Amino acid sequence: MHQHRVIIVGAGLGGLTLAHGLRARGFDVAVYERDPHPDARPQGYRVQLDEPGLAGLESCLPEHLFRLGLATAAAPPARVSVRDRHLGVLTDRPTGPSSDASDGAARPHRSYAFNRPTLRQILLFGLADTVHYGAELLSWERKQDGTVTARFADGHEASADLLVGADGVGSKVRELLLPQAVVEDAGLRLIYGKIPLDGPAVAAEARASGPEANGSTAALPPWVFDSIFTVVTGGQGHPHVGFGPVRFAHSPGLAGPAHTPAVPLDSVGDYIACLVGAPADHPDMPSFSTLRGLGGPALRELAGRLVGDDWHPDVHRLLERWDPDSLFPLRISTARPVPPWEAGPVTLLGDAIHAMSPVLAMGANTAIRDAAELTRTLTEAADSETPLVDAVRVYELRMREYAFPVVAASRRTGRQRIGQK
Ligand SMILES: Cc1cc2nc3c(=O)[nH]c(=O)nc-3n(C[C@H](O)[C@H](O)[C@H](O)COP(=O)(O)OP(=O)(O)OC[C@H]3O[C@@H](n4cnc5c(N)ncnc54)[C@H](O)[C@@H]3O)c2cc1C
Repeated sequence: MHQHRVIIVGAGLGGLTLAHGLRARGFDVAVYERDPHPDARPQGYRVQLDEPGLAGLESCLPEHLFRLGLATAAAPPARVSVRDRHLGVLTDRPTGPSSDASDGAARPHRSYAFNRPTLRQILLFGLADTVHYGAELLSWERKQDGTVTARFADGHEASADLLVGADGVGSKVRELLLPQAVVEDAGLRLIYGKIPLDGPAVAAEARASGPEANGSTAALPPWVFDSIFTVVTGGQGHPHVGFGPVRFAHSPGLAGPAHTPAVPLDSVGDYIACLVGAPADHPDMPSFSTLRGLGGPALRELAGRLVGDDWHPDVHRLLERWDPDSLFPLRISTARPVPPWEAGPVTLLGDAIHAMSPVLAMGANTAIRDAAELTRTLTEAADSETPLVDAVRVYELRMREYAFPVVAASRRTGRQRIGQK
């Protein structure tokens, strides 16, 4: 049987999940990533995966890596709370839909808060010969014989039966495939960072809280641990603050090496992922280019100004513990739905086609779901020896049906809760 060659552009969560899924099913896979190496830039902190993402990982990853992923993730109560700036509860809801599978032993919790760098390290395990770093795709071209050739910034070329653009919100693959696709600035700026839960300041506060103090979290307001994510909102058009606790059941630095086979994972302490967001046109919010030029202390100071004195003191206390070195700014984008296009040897997944605001925590979930859907349709085509383009057509039809409604729901919720345009 012909071994199909697949090029995946982008080693993000979607691209790496697809690489595992296809490799396990006998495809010849090569991933090309622009970054010079895996640690070339901050990858962010926490990523929450619910049913679509967990099911996608489970179907694509080798079982032992999936188990290690869950073992090194945190599982705070699977609820998302929205509070006003005085901490009155506005809504408090369970996270996305559960499934029969999530009631089983493989996935005891319906939602997990992964440390994103740890998840990426797990996804990269076993792919050393598959992922090529320092490979920025510049262009691709369809050949007469139905294959596609990709060109990279270093002059390298590669050909395959299928090229998958998993290259994120600024996708070069999309730009060439669907020049009509529009990705809009969602009018939202974020300052994102970590509140460490095991640093010296926290330990000192815990000691000061007395003998019953429970380790690193004793001095922190308990409500921050009651939900997998809490949004504290200043109201429409005003800033908001988000808190997502990541307390590992098993420390990645210990669980990885103890795993069989051993998976080297960096040590990371418990933390709360914390972001302060505001509309781009908020009077205190500078332009994004200015924001990008600010260092950690200046970003923290700006966040302090955005969150006014009349916010609950707990919020200020938490923000005081933000690690300034962990802070970086983000601009949020959202895709407009793209009308159907003709299927071919080039397709897209994840943020490359359906970027969305993070308010519902569904971007990575949907990127991983895409990887699982595409793995399934391509495998069926390969098994039945039908052309891959038929599988691409089925995948694109389904992906447009489930993904763009999630983009729209994220936009609606973003408008209601956090001042998205
Ligand atoms: C603050 C924040 C919090 C979030 N939290 C959550 C959450 O809790 N849950 C959730 O589901 N989603 C969350 N998201 C959304 C999630 O991060 C994204 O949807 C997800 O990372 C998309 O994955 P991807 O693989 O499609 O793209 P990416 O992760 O963006 O990966 C794309 C990769 O392609 C590479 N690349 C780009 N261009 C090229 C090129 N020309 N050649 C080669 N390589 C290239 C990039 O370097 C990158 O490595 C959050 C987003 C933000 C901003």
